[in-house]
Amino acid sequence: MLAKKATRMANRKKIKEGKTKVLYRGPEPGTLIQYFKDDITAFNNLKKDKIEGRGILNNRISAHIMTKLSECNVPTHFIKRINMREQLVHEVDIIPVEVIVRNIAAGSFAKRYGIEEGTKLPRTIIEYCLKSDELSDPVLSEDYIFSYDLAHPIELDEMYQQALRINDLLTGMFLMINIKLVDFKLEFGRMYNEVTGDLHLLLADEISPDGSRLWDITSDEKLDKDRFRRDLGGIEHAYQEVARRLGILGDDNGKVEVAKPVMNKPLHIRKVNI
Ligand code: 5GP
Repeated sequence: MLAKKATRMANRKKIKEGKTKVLYRGPEPGTLIQYFKDDITAFNNLKKDKIEGRGILNNRISAHIMTKLSECNVPTHFIKRINMREQLVHEVDIIPVEVIVRNIAAGSFAKRYGIEEGTKLPRTIIEYCLKSDELSDPVLSEDYIFSYDLAHPIELDEMYQQALRINDLLTGMFLMINIKLVDFKLEFGRMYNEVTGDLHLLLADEISPDGSRLWDITSDEKLDKDRFRRDLGGIEHAYQEVARRLGILGDDNGKVEVAKPVMNKPLHIRKVNI
């Protein structure tokens, strides 16, 4: 049985290998398998390491969060978690604009504007960055996004609205487990319905302590990738703590997360216009 599984895995068609994940062709047309590696990188690959079990934790945490979001009618690419390291997702064309949602000043924002890290922002601030390792993900203006056709105004508006909604849902989810959601990054993708020609926008990639800042509500202890970026140590313990508080640490006993199928209204943009 193990040999059979190994052959099946070796025969899979690799679509793309990124810094922390691998995408394989999925069992049905329009699906992919997203595999979570243990590799961790920061500063656009200048700092690298491998932390045993990190991929498993990110897979579990992201699957849990995506499932909860789908239960609240947020359309995501997530279909179901297949095993400890893999999930089945809808194939999407990733929009090369990262959406950063900030509630509390930290990281590049605190540095750029000279605001003390930990200062609560007057309101949630959404920023857009170019998805480009070579250029270190520079901040983008809306004019740049539209001039270079990175996203259509209707798509960007939908991304903005979804980001605020996701922020509301996640802020509540983390507050219940005594965690402050400081900031996080979202990626969205386009999914085309080949029959109707409709275009749908789906939340894609992952939501995990890799792409968010999560601080303990009383001590402000960092429970996210900043532990790696800033050489604070204890990264696996921090990710385990997030999983423990979410109630998903340990053996899954074969129980896997399955998303509620959610499709948003099609965006009425013609494919050729993007
Ligand atoms: P900052 O701009 O302060 O470095 O990051 C803001 C938030 O977005 C942080 O939660 C950070 O983890 C996340 N983020 C921004 N860019 C990336 C990225 O390229 N990869 C990951 N994993 N997270 C990112």
